[in-house]
Amino acid sequence: MGLTGIEIFKMLPKTNCGECGVPTCLAFAMNLASGKAELDACPYVSDEAKEKLAEASAPPIRPVSIGAGTRALKVGGETVMFRHEKTFYNQTGLAALITSDIDAGALEKKLKEWNALQYERVGLNLRPELVALKDAKGDVQAFTAVAKKVAEESEFGLILISESPDALKAAVEVSAFKKPLLYAATAENVEDMGTLAKESGLPLAVKANDIEGLIGLTDKLTGMGLKDLVLDSGSREPKQVFEDQVVMRRAALKAGNRSLGFPTITFPCEMAGNLDMETVLASMLIAKYAGIVTLSDFSGESLFPLLLERLNIFTDPQRPMTVTEGIYEIGAPDENSPVLVTTNFSLTYFIVSGEIEGSRVPSWLLIMDTEGLSVMTAWAAGKFAGDAVGMFVKKCGIADKVSHKKVIIPGYAAAISGEMEEELPDWNVMIGPRDASLIPKFLKEMAQ
Ligand code: SF4
Repeated sequence: MGLTGIEIFKMLPKTNCGECGVPTCLAFAMNLASGKAELDACPYVSDEAKEKLAEASAPPIRPVSIGAGTRALKVGGETVMFRHEKTFYNQTGLAALITSDIDAGALEKKLKEWNALQYERVGLNLRPELVALKDAKGDVQAFTAVAKKVAEESEFGLILISESPDALKAAVEVSAFKKPLLYAATAENVEDMGTLAKESGLPLAVKANDIEGLIGLTDKLTGMGLKDLVLDSGSREPKQVFEDQVVMRRAALKAGNRSLGFPTITFPCEMAGNLDMETVLASMLIAKYAGIVTLSDFSGESLFPLLLERLNIFTDPQRPMTVTEGIYEIGAPDENSPVLVTTNFSLTYFIVSGEIEGSRVPSWLLIMDTEGLSVMTAWAAGKFAGDAVGMFVKKCGIADKVSHKKVIIPGYAAAISGEMEEELPDWNVMIGPRDASLIPKFLKEMAQ
């Protein structure tokens, strides 16, 4: 049974030095209790307290890092069954499968095509992270050569799949710098695989025929000192895989089962006969509760909706997505360019800035911090009130960049214009369109 935040707090140094990344020991204790922080983050905990806190501080599902560089990935670390209870933290990793008998030209082509599958959405780059390389014919040389090429010539992280510890060992020698996931320890090879993972310091997947079998294997591996494990319950039958994901998550979170407190890996690529079904299964597993989903390929029509689903599920529902307050240049505005002001809800920003860009009228866009609320909501909540917006326009520094004194406010916030004019007596407060799609017409007419 875990300790409460207050119980943990009593054992912390209480100096509030902030070195753990949060401002107070109490906040750190709360994060420890909910599995959002690791005890190592505080350098000042006494050895005695460390021992007592070890159990409480371990997150119910261990976060496991895979890969390095721009596509590095962390899976696991989840603390709730349902997103609305709090949030999901570490998004499901997406992998595509290749086999070691792929020829060099085909591999190069695939990596190039997969690398191009990146999408900009609300200021984020959505892209897959992993290549799962399967040892096709027990040819260690071919397996190692493909692992080397993927590791050295692509941004993708690697899952190295082989039943042979020797093949994995050879591939690790050329790709360890990319921190690959080793797949997999089974009842037959658990000691050799455990030793390889321990020596190389790499995460290890564990595969059994069912959840009972997994428990025995993870207990053995944690007994060997391994911490970073990823679970495969073995089934490739959709209903059973779904059930396994739910059972493992529930056992880890609700029953505190440490043997199942690890992220999972799943293989829709081995569960479906066509791309449509594979995508549907992947979608189900992103929602419930796969740490990694392995596809047979990355193709835009399958990958894009999965990336969007993942974005939606792993966005914190309690924290609106925001952009930083400030002055944004769109096009190459000069002293005569129009000035628009809106809120810092990221969707608002991206829609408005996209429309301004589309108008081809270089403009200044003032983004005011409204705690991530959209125009109507911010206005209704008093966070986009006339005096506050006027004060922001005055203080943000836009007056030094333009030679005119005109500012355009969103049409839905027309009611604030009077108060703004009081705050900005020498400015002309203009009411822009209600609908962002009318901004280009509005700006073009202004520019005439
Ligand atoms: Fe407290 Fe330790 Fe965090 Fe400092 S680093 S605030 S002592 S928990």
